[in-house]
Amino acid sequence: MPEIAYVNGEFLPLEQAMIHVEDRGFQFADSAYEVMRTYDGKLFSAEEHLARLFRSLSALELEHRFTAKELICIAEEAVRRAGFAEAMVYLQVTRGVARRHRGVPARCAPTIVMTVRELHHPPPSQWENGLSCITVPDSRWGRCDIKTVALLANVLAYQAAQKAGVNDAIFIGVDGTVTEATAGNIFIVVSGELRTPPKSPRLLSGITRDKLLEAARVAGIPCAERTVTKMELLAADEVFVTSTTNEVSPVTVVDGHKIGTGKPGPFAKRVYKQFLQIFVRP
Ligand code: PLP
Repeated sequence: MPEIAYVNGEFLPLEQAMIHVEDRGFQFADSAYEVMRTYDGKLFSAEEHLARLFRSLSALELEHRFTAKELICIAEEAVRRAGFAEAMVYLQVTRGVARRHRGVPARCAPTIVMTVRELHHPPPSQWENGLSCITVPDSRWGRCDIKTVALLANVLAYQAAQKAGVNDAIFIGVDGTVTEATAGNIFIVVSGELRTPPKSPRLLSGITRDKLLEAARVAGIPCAERTVTKMELLAADEVFVTSTTNEVSPVTVVDGHKIGTGKPGPFAKRVYKQFLQIFVRP
């Protein structure tokens, strides 16, 4: 099966896709992106992802003329051409190509890039043993709610985790509260209540996060969107990370401390099952 790219109106094999060296996405991270996925060849939650993309573009004052429907049509065609049952669809919109200067160009045609790759399931060990994480200071800018490609702090935090021999890093703000993981939202379980940090400019509001909260409420699990301190994270009965591509990933060790029993807990499994039942394969 081919990995497919779409660049400004043209579908082509991924390895042939190119953008201009003066594209502002490349020069200034002047762009927003989304990561969608498919289940059984169908795009999942595309409307929600496109709504978030449009919110990001509007926060960047990045003008464009395309509609969510047009982008979904292109994504569907790319998925069809690639032919994977489970695929990751990456979509990036940059302000476009202009002579390099920090000033926003008066007229600039946005660059649209999509790529489709096969999505592989996380290894079964993830549900047997869970992930190990470290915590790291959140040194990112103040608008993490905008899904921009300026991800260097996430890259370095993930690299620090890899160097420490663990799976991921969890960001802790200067106030000692948890924001999110390097590519996912954090949930904890305390005395039967599911907690996740509230939406704010300090974190990306995940599509999976929202769906998980809905699934938990349907399952009758009490939920609270409230700040989570690092102490509460370490003392939680369960911790898990949510994202489009990895769905629900239990975390069983943080900074070398065992979380709960040290094994993936019942709440993560229950809420994941409910998520699949409601949203994925009703
Ligand atoms: N937070 C960050 C920093 C992310 O990069 C992601 C996804 O990549 C998420 C949260 C989860 O978002 P979603 O559930 O929409 O994939």
